[in-house]
Amino acid sequence: MFVCKEPIGCASKRRIWGAAPEQIAGFSRLQNAWKFATFELDPHVVRRQRERGISRADIRYVLFHGRLLEFQQNALYRRARIMSRLPAGRILHVIVEWGHDTHRVITAMDPASRPWQWNEDYTQRLHWCVKNHLDDD
Ligand SMILES: [Zn+2]
Repeated sequence: MFVCKEPIGCASKRRIWGAAPEQIAGFSRLQNAWKFATFELDPHVVRRQRERGISRADIRYVLFHGRLLEFQQNALYRRARIMSRLPAGRILHVIVEWGHDTHRVITAMDPASRPWQWNEDYTQRLHWCVKNHLDDD
């Protein structure tokens, strides 16, 4: 049975997690604009791709077919967590950050590899606590 190691931290993050309805509604427009953009792969995602067996094509599929789960914005960047089921059946989450001229894929993961962190359809994050470093984003 799973026991959360950081119940206070996980509960406070759970409250701020999610995307506002207007962000979800505007997301397909953003995805259309992304078709003309170049996405850089952060060294972090390249390492995670190797560890997790995730290809560039998998990431592109999620970017252009996925749904928005989380959106964050500050003065420097906008960041989104996007989820899609790949044609072969695997579900992936991709985190992407974009500014005026750079678009950068930060990380990619298979939420089914750490089910305690998610609700049953992997659309809502329940926990941020990890069992080992490979569970980090
Ligand atoms: Zn937790």
